[in-house]
Amino acid sequence: MSSVPAPPAISLRGVVKRYGDVTAVNGLDLTVPDGTCVGLLGPNGAGKSTTMRLLTAQAIADEGEIEVLGFPLPAESKAARAEMGVVPQLDNLDVTLTVEQNLLVFTHLYRIGRGERRAAIERALEIANLRERRKARVDELSGGMRRRLLIARALVHEPRLVLLDEPTVGLDPQVRQELWALIDRLRSEGASILMSTHYIEEAERLADTVVVVSKGQAVAVGRPNDLVAEHAGREALEVYGPPARLREVEADAAQRGWPTRRTGTSVTILRAEALNGDAPEGERRNANLEDVFVLLTGEEIA
Ligand code: ADP
Repeated sequence: MSSVPAPPAISLRGVVKRYGDVTAVNGLDLTVPDGTCVGLLGPNGAGKSTTMRLLTAQAIADEGEIEVLGFPLPAESKAARAEMGVVPQLDNLDVTLTVEQNLLVFTHLYRIGRGERRAAIERALEIANLRERRKARVDELSGGMRRRLLIARALVHEPRLVLLDEPTVGLDPQVRQELWALIDRLRSEGASILMSTHYIEEAERLADTVVVVSKGQAVAVGRPNDLVAEHAGREALEVYGPPARLREVEADAAQRGWPTRRTGTSVTILRAEALNGDAPEGERRNANLEDVFVLLTGEEIA
C-alpha cells in the first residue's frame, strides 16, 4: 500500500502583516512538514512573534494564505487551535494556583472529559518533570520550573502541533539544556513543532529545518549543516588585533572580494578554505550557523 504523505502541519504563503507604517511580516513563505521541528531564527524585530500570533489567529494577516493542520486561517482557527499547543513567550501562569491547578484549568479549556482529566494532568507533569512539585504554588517555583509548567500546560490535550515562542529566553544555560531535552522528547513522540528563537545554538541543536528570518521574510531555509555549507563555506579565518588593524584587514578583504564579518575583537573572513597564501595571520575554525546568521541578517550576536 502506498501511503499519501501527510499535509504539512503549517503552511504560509506570501503572508503580510502590517501595523500602520510597520510591515512586521513581509511576504513570508514557511512550511512545517508533519512530524518535524522547524526553527524560526531571526534577530529582534524580524517578525517571529507576529508570525506566531498569526498562527493562533491573535493577529489577522493582511495578505497571503495560512493553513494550520489543514485548516485555513482565520476561517477555521478554532478547529486548528483545538489541536495545537501554544507556549507563549510571556509567562502568563496563574501564580496564586498550584502547578496541578494550572493544568486543571487547561483541561477544562480544552474540553477534556472529566474521566480523562487526571491522566492528562499526570502525563503533562511527567513530561515536564514536575510530578514532585505538583502541590507547589507557581510563585514558589524557579524560573526554569515555570517554563516547564508553561510547556506542560500546552500539552495537556496531546496536541499534534506545538508552537514555542522563544522557549528559553532569559534562562541560564543549565535550565536551557533541560528544556531542550523536553523539546527533543516532544519531537521524538511525533509532534510537529514550530519554535522561534534568536539563539543560534538553540536552532542548531533542535531544529530539523532552520528558517532564517530577516525583516519579515524568510532569507534562507534548510538543515543547519546545509545552510552553513551553502552560505558560509567550510572554514572561517579569525584575525585578531587592535581596531586599526581590523579596519585594515576588512578594507583589504573587501578589495579582494573576500566575505567578512565583525566579531567584536576580530574580523572573520568566510570561505577561508578558498584563500591562497596571501591570507592574513589568524585562527582557522569550521564555519558555523552564527556566520550564516550574521551574513544574512546583518546582525551582530549579543
Ligand atoms: P520578533 O518577534 O522577531 O522580535 P516582532 O514580530 O515582535 O519581531 O516584530 C516585528 C516588527 O513589527 C517590529 O518592528 C515591531 O516593532 C513591529 N510590531 C510587532 N507587533 C506590533 C504591534 N502590535 N503594533 C505595532 N508594531 C508592532
